[in-house]
Amino acid sequence: MKSLKENSQKAHIVIIGSGIIGKFNAVELSELGFRITIIDPSQLQNSSNAALGLLMGNMYQKRRGRSWELRKQSIELWPQWIAFLQKFNNELNIEKPLIQLTTNEEKFKKFEKFVYENNDINLKILRRDSIFIKKINEAFQTKNLQGMISFKDGRIDAKSLLKALDKYLKFNKTNFIEEEIIKIRKSNKHWISKTRNNKEIKSDIVILCNSLKAVDLIDNLSHNIKLKPVLGQAIEVDINHAEIDLLSLPKQFNIDGKNIITKSKSKLIIGSTDEYSTQPEENTFEKLTNFLDKKPSWLKKEKISKKWFGIRSRPDGEASPIMKNLENGLIVCTGFYKNGILLAPASAKWVANEIKNYLS
Ligand SMILES: Cc1cc2nc3c(=O)[nH]c(=O)nc-3n(C[C@H](O)[C@H](O)[C@H](O)COP(=O)(O)OP(=O)(O)OC[C@H]3O[C@@H](n4cnc5c(N)ncnc54)[C@H](O)[C@@H]3O)c2cc1C
Repeated sequence: MKSLKENSQKAHIVIIGSGIIGKFNAVELSELGFRITIIDPSQLQNSSNAALGLLMGNMYQKRRGRSWELRKQSIELWPQWIAFLQKFNNELNIEKPLIQLTTNEEKFKKFEKFVYENNDINLKILRRDSIFIKKINEAFQTKNLQGMISFKDGRIDAKSLLKALDKYLKFNKTNFIEEEIIKIRKSNKHWISKTRNNKEIKSDIVILCNSLKAVDLIDNLSHNIKLKPVLGQAIEVDINHAEIDLLSLPKQFNIDGKNIITKSKSKLIIGSTDEYSTQPEENTFEKLTNFLDKKPSWLKKEKISKKWFGIRSRPDGEASPIMKNLENGLIVCTGFYKNGILLAPASAKWVANEIKNYLS
């Protein structure tokens, strides 16, 4: 049996898709000594570039099963990734804490039960008289908000994160091919990935991190995986800071499923992540602000300074994400319709372990 080092020095791994998942896999495997090629025709237009970067791990209300295991592992791995990637972008950090609020009494009771049962010092219930809620009520003219705060969860800026990963990959001279893969096939012990321009790339291992399009490549090989598109959208609102000082608000919070990020004293981002569609409609502003009965005077449609969206893939008929060793040397790691940023460290660790086992 050859050692991993011997094998990894020889093994060539092709990663199809360079969103957050493809890039995390590339870094993890490069650090283990593998030769990596990433292939993607449009790495700046994926859902990873649209993400708001909330890392909602510890406040996940189901502390068992695979989903919790992945979150727990990611929560533990994130500090190591930050320390490592700060060498490539020293501004990178996780802004804490994270607040989740609701106007729904039943939901709040579930928060209370969850916090009480878990007896976790990093979680606290926020009642109506909490200072955080008072500030949010003042700004948004909301009433009846209650919720919980997690001191272990927070937010990372997704674009800064991608930038740091790119710097690492460039520094490490990782091979990047700006093309679309249209077919993969097995040839003896190798995999051949064929680009739209008929270029063929030979590798020992292929990792599919290409979201919805993974299905097109797997179908030929008779693996039954189904993925549905899920739209996520966000707006940036640019207000006159004399109207209201956004810095008086918490940095990141969620009200009934809408994520709100205060970027500066005059800029606010509102995002939502779960619509089954492939194109945003005209009424984005109304959809993203429908958690408010009445909109405060400063929050107007005309003040939208940016608007963007991303399409993720959600597994149909099985749990998200899809992390499977399909056949010798073919791994799929995709279907992160929510929380792809949060789960990137745990998914990269899983892939690395699969490859270590495969080669040993
Ligand atoms: C508005 C919005 C807000 C979000 N907020 C959060 C958040 O707060 N926290 C969080 O954790 N997650 C969030 N998400 C989810 C997160 O963005 C996704 O889970 C994550 O980005 C998925 O990453 P990925 O690498 O799997 O896919 P993607 O980033 O979509 O990357 C897939 C890549 O595959 C490439 N590709 C496709 N087909 C091929 C092919 N045939 N050959 C080569 N390359 C190919 C594409 O070009 C693309 O670059 C949000 C998403 C959106 C849209």
